[in-house]
Amino acid sequence: MVEKINILNIPISNIRKEKFLHKIEEHFKDSTGNLFIVTANPEIIMLTKESKDYQAAVLNADYVLPDGIGVIIASKLLKQPLEEKIPGYELLHDLLAYARAAEKRVYFYGAKPGIAGKAAEKAFSQYPGLQMAGTMDGYSSKGQEAADKIAATNPDFIFVAMGAPLQEQWIATYRAQFPNAVLVGVGGSFDVLSGTLKRAPKFWTNNNLEWLYRLITQPTRAKRMMKIPVFLVEVLKTRARKK
Ligand code: UDP
Repeated sequence: MVEKINILNIPISNIRKEKFLHKIEEHFKDSTGNLFIVTANPEIIMLTKESKDYQAAVLNADYVLPDGIGVIIASKLLKQPLEEKIPGYELLHDLLAYARAAEKRVYFYGAKPGIAGKAAEKAFSQYPGLQMAGTMDGYSSKGQEAADKIAATNPDFIFVAMGAPLQEQWIATYRAQFPNAVLVGVGGSFDVLSGTLKRAPKFWTNNNLEWLYRLITQPTRAKRMMKIPVFLVEVLKTRARKK
């Protein structure tokens, strides 16, 4: 059993990325069902507090991984430090590398028309031989219709890039249609992989400053990012209550 740290009622898996990737390997060896993975940042955790439906979707996941420094800081404030952050975009790359090596078929669902296809081309050039089951944008087909289309291609990995709350809600609702697959919500990852949006350069990510880079380059996100300090205050409140 992977240890879980409770942050605002969301059980975050305390696991190193290497070990987690090993779990994925094991899953495909003796699979007893599918896997739903959430990469949770402060915004996602705050959304679960605002919507019971969304909270239920996230609690439906098999692994909720800590995406970003905000969640790591929260775990330290609670005196239960998580081993390491596992950013969604990095996880996507690790899983693509694994899928290529293990000959698993990958589906990209989400982002604006044309982006998932472009992201798939980039993925193929970075991981030659990668088997794509298909791609679909996140606007023209939704809900059941999208699930039927994707299920018809029988993928092993389904990366859903529609942002929170849509991606987790869709996965929680339709996961039963993919009995052995690994389903992961990856937010804006196709925008980055396709080259449409730039991820923070190494200096910023290495120094845990990705949030600041995003704030500077995408000021329209400022309002959303205000959720980070609010999140930390909520965490401090639960710490105070425990004492
Ligand atoms: N998106 C989508 N369908 C929708 C709404 C959004 O496919 O109905 C896509 C959007 O084009 C973008 C991604 O979902 O590519 C959300 O990105 P965002 O930056 O909000 O996600 P984050 O990484 O912050 O979770």
